[in-house]
Amino acid sequence: SKSIEVQDLNVYYSDFLAVEGVSIDIEPRSVTAFIGPSGCGKSTFLRTLNRMHEVIPGGHVKGRVLIDGDDLYGPGVDPVLVRRHVGMVFQRPNPFPTMSIRENVLAGAKLNDKRMSKSDADGLVEKSLKGANLWNEVKDRLDKPGGGLSGGQQQRLCIARAIAVSPDVLLMDEPCSALDPISTFAIEELISELKNDYTIVIVTHNMQQASRVSDKTAFFNIAGTGKPGRLIEYNDTS
Ligand code: ADP
Ligand code: ADP
Repeated sequence: SKSIEVQDLNVYYSDFLAVEGVSIDIEPRSVTAFIGPSGCGKSTFLRTLNRMHEVIPGGHVKGRVLIDGDDLYGPGVDPVLVRRHVGMVFQRPNPFPTMSIRENVLAGAKLNDKRMSKSDADGLVEKSLKGANLWNEVKDRLDKPGGGLSGGQQQRLCIARAIAVSPDVLLMDEPCSALDPISTFAIEELISELKNDYTIVIVTHNMQQASRVSDKTAFFNIAGTGKPGRLIEYNDTS
């Protein structure tokens, strides 16, 4: 679990400035919620924290993002490696649908350690699924396809896949907005537990959710149509 320090970051899509002048310090082992109106750049900004923004054509940034003091955008830093240390969970659960539950958990971890032994892999699968509060539900069907799980289970599988690579940071982009209330509650509980091991940033539209799961709330806003989003407040969640 590591700190995130953003210094005067501007985020662009080609010439379009989507997010302007964000500076923010995020403590290790905390949950920060990003809140704000649609289009103010929450998702765009979130994607700069693991260099996913650059995957989009024209996507680039100015400024610095330090994880535990190391600049993600420093010279020689490999964005592919960055993405393996900063896990991400998306709005739509996206397990590899035809791949088994077991292989889904291992999909990222195997990229880091291509020669993992069978017993190490088994241990990692169990540990990651337990960490995602999914083990008891799937332990008897690890070889069944990930796509056969319910939406809420699929999202916890994606969280298991993300934590299997031992990331420092977990980014979550509206992880509950495609889920029913009970699955949402399960993910919220899980976030509160994961906070002990990871620095977590969650984008949410839901103020109640922000107050349930987060320690800090970052409010973003846009001054008007065509204007960039800005961070306007960053406070303890009340
Ligand atoms: P939010 O997550 O707060 O709803 P977004 O980060 O999705 O906001 O969008 C911020 C701004 O960037 C919006 O003006 C949006 O239209 C623009 N934008 C988002 N994705 C792209 C893209 N792929 N290309 C160009 N502009 C984009
Ligand atoms: P489908 O049969 O519906 O395409 P798959 O599970 O075969 O589903 O794969 C879904 C997507 O994930 C594909 O784009 C595939 O290239 C990609 N994919 C499959 N296996 C891996 C893997 N081990 N690591 C990364 N990406 C993978």
